[in-house]
Amino acid sequence: MMQNSDNLQVLLQDPNLSADLKHIAQKVLNKQRITFDEGVLLYEQGELGYLGALANHIREERHGDKTYFNRNFHIEPTNLCVYDCKFCSYSRLLKQKSEGWEYTMDEMFNMVAKYDGEPVTEVHIVGGVLPQYDVPFYQELFARIRAHRPELHIKALTPVEYHYIFKKAKIDYATGMRLMQEAGLDSIPGGGAEIFDSEIRDQISKDKCTADQWLAIHEEWHKLGGRSNATMLYGHIEEYRHRVDHMERLRQLQDKTGGFQTFIPLKFRNKDNQMSHVPEVSVIEDLRNYAVARIYLDNFDHIKAYWAMISRTTAQLSLNFGVDDIDGTLDDTTKIYSMAGAEEQHPGMSTKQVVELIKHVGRQPIERDTLYNVVTDYTNFVFGDEPKPQYYKLPVIN
Ligand code: SF4
Repeated sequence: MMQNSDNLQVLLQDPNLSADLKHIAQKVLNKQRITFDEGVLLYEQGELGYLGALANHIREERHGDKTYFNRNFHIEPTNLCVYDCKFCSYSRLLKQKSEGWEYTMDEMFNMVAKYDGEPVTEVHIVGGVLPQYDVPFYQELFARIRAHRPELHIKALTPVEYHYIFKKAKIDYATGMRLMQEAGLDSIPGGGAEIFDSEIRDQISKDKCTADQWLAIHEEWHKLGGRSNATMLYGHIEEYRHRVDHMERLRQLQDKTGGFQTFIPLKFRNKDNQMSHVPEVSVIEDLRNYAVARIYLDNFDHIKAYWAMISRTTAQLSLNFGVDDIDGTLDDTTKIYSMAGAEEQHPGMSTKQVVELIKHVGRQPIERDTLYNVVTDYTNFVFGDEPKPQYYKLPVIN
């Protein structure tokens, strides 16, 4: 079987490959960082096979065939929102309130309690922004979940929500994040980043937190020893240079703090939103984008594809383009993807289904917790013999 470095050697010998692309392949082979201009060049000139060879080389050097997933469920407190992002198919503006939901504290707590005894390791809480969901509300919610089920990892709210609630409470980011941590917050998901470039951001999601504010909140969280993820909404009105600019800013913050775990490219979907006239990019472009992200973000450990958003088959393909994580079992608890027109309208897979999906493409399924501790290695696991749920104490990261 051909080794990964052999694939790159073949590329380097290819007489049809431009000197610039050969230079980038050589850099990847030497583990050297690529520049902004080289990132743009990859998008403009890198063909699918070339990008896949580079990204898979990096993926396999870091993780071999290991492919991560977790067992989680989502709570989406509301789909009403004070903001009006043009790409958002999820939020129903306050004026269309009849189509919205607003869960109470008790309703959300009961959703957590419903999973008592189930081997889930994470609750992912994210939704629209409304005034009643403020600092005291989330402090109480996190504290109640923490008291009820101490080992359940609380991954909650994006800087969009944090910026809003801290401003309302008249507290700075450092104070706010400390209060959240004290209440029980374990990590921050990657949402709300969209695209950092201000010209594009103003057109698609004006008014909510800026790129600098998004980055500042993650930085404060990292200073407290917390971990977080980062996303990028791609395939709408942005140009390649905007994608590279987005990743460059993430790479710089990661150099400074090391607090990011995973980068998650999010594909723009055009169903039922104010950008329905903008066509969606192809699956080929999705795969190219995963690959460039894997190559550019040399200081991020993981690249994740949300299978519920891009379909199970594309998620399988993505494992050859730099992706090493396909998210969780979900249990049909999120509407964010389905309302935007994603392939999966009722996203949920059993652990067995996720494991088979990964094994079918020759990779090793590893159930992880939120911080990538191995919960169960399913490589040689025979179903019918479900392991007892195992929980791990959260490591302290300073
Ligand atoms: S993307 Fe988020 S902040 Fe924007 S309208 Fe939708 S729910 Fe609100």
